[in-house]
Amino acid sequence: MAPDPLAAWRLAGEPFYRASGDEIRLCMLAFERRLPLLLKGPTGCGKTRFVEHMAWRLGRPLVTLACNEDMTASDLLGRYLIDAEGTRWHDGPLTQAVRHGAICYLDEVVEAHRDTTVVIHPLADTRRVLALERRGELVPAHPDFQLVISYNPGYQERGKDLKPSTRQRFVALEFGYPAPEVEAAIVAHEAGVAPELAARLVEWARGSRALRPQGLEEGASTRMLVRAGQLLAAGAAPAQACDLALVCALTDDADTARALRELVAACFGG
Ligand code: ADP
Repeated sequence: MAPDPLAAWRLAGEPFYRASGDEIRLCMLAFERRLPLLLKGPTGCGKTRFVEHMAWRLGRPLVTLACNEDMTASDLLGRYLIDAEGTRWHDGPLTQAVRHGAICYLDEVVEAHRDTTVVIHPLADTRRVLALERRGELVPAHPDFQLVISYNPGYQERGKDLKPSTRQRFVALEFGYPAPEVEAAIVAHEAGVAPELAARLVEWARGSRALRPQGLEEGASTRMLVRAGQLLAAGAAPAQACDLALVCALTDDADTARALRELVAACFGG
C-alpha cells in the first residue's frame, strides 16, 4: 500500500472543545460546501482548538501553519532543493494539503508576507486552484481540501488588517471569550483545577478585560487562564500563579500591574 502523504497531520484523539453557540453546526455547513472559513477573534480564545476539534470530527488531517512576518509564499508552496540526485521540487505544506485533501489552517494570516495572499486568493474562490509558478504547475484542489484562516481584529490598530479582497472570499465565524460558566469549565478541564478556583480566575480575567480602555492592549485570554490554573494545580499560591501567568505576562507598565494585582487580591482574597 502507498504511504499516506498526510499521515503526520492526522489527529490521534479527540481534542476537547466546549462550544459557545452553534459554531460546530455552522462550520459543518461551510465545510460541506467547501466554503473557505475565516475565524475572527482575540488571541487565545479557542480558534485553533476549534479547528482541531472540527478536523477530528470530520476525520480529516489538519495542516496548521502559524504565520509570521518571515513567512513567504515559498514556505507555503514549496521550493527546489538540491540533494544527491540533483535538483528536486519539494511540495510545501499548503501544496500537500491542496493535493491530498487536508484542512489547512493559516493561523494569524495577516502576519505573513503579503505575497501569501496572492497564493490563497485563487484557492478561496470558485477556481479552487493553487498556482506553483516556479514549477509551471496549476494544482486543482482535492475535493476534501478545506482552507481556514484566522485573524485578530484587535491588531488592526497596528496596521495588520485583512484586505477586503481577501476577507470577501471567506465566510466568517466570530469568536470571543466564552461566557463565564463555559470559560470556567474549560479552565477546570484543561488545567485540572477545582471549578471554584477556575471561576475565580475567570472573574479576574473579566476584570482585566475591562481594563483595556485604560491602556491594556488585550485582557487575559482563556489560554493564559489555563496556564495560571496549571500553576495553581501544581501548588503555587494564587498571588504567585497570577503574577507569573497573568500580571507580568500581560503588562510592563507599573500602574497597570498594580491594578491587576489589586484585582488578584479582590478575586482570591489576600
Ligand atoms: P487561539 O487559536 O484563539 O489563539 P487556542 O485555540 O490556542 O486560541 O486556545 C488556547 C487554549 O485555551 C487552548 O489550548 C485550550 O486549552 C483553551 N481553550 C480556549 N477555548 C477553548 C474551548 N472552547 N474549548 C476547549 N479549550 C479551549
